[in-house]
Order: sequence, then C-alpha cells, then structure tokens
Amino acid sequence: MSESKYFKVEGENLVRTKKSCKECGDGYFMAEHKDRYTCGHCGYTEFKKKK
Ligand SMILES: [Zn+2]
Repeated sequence: MSESKYFKVEGENLVRTKKSCKECGDGYFMAEHKDRYTCGHCGYTEFKKKK
C-alpha cells in the first residue's frame, strides 16, 4: 500500500508503455510494473489482469 503513490526510476528498468493515462489524457504515459501500470503524474494505477 505505502508504495502505491510512488514509483522508482531505476535507470533502464523503468519501462514506458504506450498506455496513456485515462485521467491525464494523451501524452501522459503509464509506467509498467510487474503487476500494474502507474501514472507518475497523477498516481493513477491500473492493475494487470491475471491469467
Ligand atoms: Zn495520470
């Protein structure tokens, strides 16, 4: 929970996706994490679907 508002920028480990943030609109791309995508601008988080 406590990490949800932050994401670490770890050099090349940060993967930018082509998903844009629903809240901020086009131009604000979400960062990919192992189980979720997050927007660094507003903190919006979208969880990946489990298979
Ligand atoms: Zn956003």
